[in-house]
Amino acid sequence: MPEIPELEHVSGVLRERLGGRRIAGVEVSRPIVIRLPREEFEAGLSGARLEDVRRSGKFLLFEFDRATTMAVAPMLTGRFQWTGDAKAHARTCFTLEFEGDLAIRYIDERFLGKVYLVSSERLDTVPVLSEQGPDALDPALTEEAFLQRLRRYRGQVKNVLVNAKFVAGIGNAYVDEILFEAGVHPFTAVKDLSAERRAGLHRAMVSVLGWASERAAEEIGERIDRKPRDFLRVHRKGGEACPKCGGAISEVSPNRRVTSFCRACQPH
Ligand SMILES: [Zn+2]
Repeated sequence: MPEIPELEHVSGVLRERLGGRRIAGVEVSRPIVIRLPREEFEAGLSGARLEDVRRSGKFLLFEFDRATTMAVAPMLTGRFQWTGDAKAHARTCFTLEFEGDLAIRYIDERFLGKVYLVSSERLDTVPVLSEQGPDALDPALTEEAFLQRLRRYRGQVKNVLVNAKFVAGIGNAYVDEILFEAGVHPFTAVKDLSAERRAGLHRAMVSVLGWASERAAEEIGERIDRKPRDFLRVHRKGGEACPKCGGAISEVSPNRRVTSFCRACQPH
């Protein structure tokens, strides 16, 4: 699942290369991810000028001059790709051609992504986006604000951190990295964490998302379809040596969701 580090960079690349350009052509090949009638989607985008691309949580928001916004939630397997970077992909859902001979396709292996086109004033009608909490990188989400929000939650810390209603933008990969950095066991209940360890969660979140965003930007460059994860320290590294203590990293998959952590460094 693309998370903050990848999406933050991808939104910047798209803004830089496509901002100010009009859409010259819209080709829908797999309408399943598009949450409005295909004809409305095509008519709504054809000829529209892209003014900005920004990220909110795990959404990419494409703002057009018609006071409309295309909101894209890539979910597990959605991604954009420059059409010049690779041949047409069988799971291409739609392609947007921009003036100046630039085009992007949206690919989704499992068709779980969701694409909306709404009036920019009605972003509150987009499910999940409308209900999500502050972005994990929002400067307004200070340690104090984070701790205040955390008081409303009691369940397993991993589940809370990936809950977009709590804080938006953290998914299954980076939550493992954040918990490793904080030295907190992923299944510990929030209600059992001391004040010091709660504050440590916030510090780890800011630190991990900061360095990971820099690394992701370096590795992705202009290849916006890439999701580099080699530099992660524990996620999906089960059996490998823990970078802190050298012991073996544990990996479990309750509910088919991989959780990787070090039992020595994250005892509780
Ligand atoms: Zn360890």
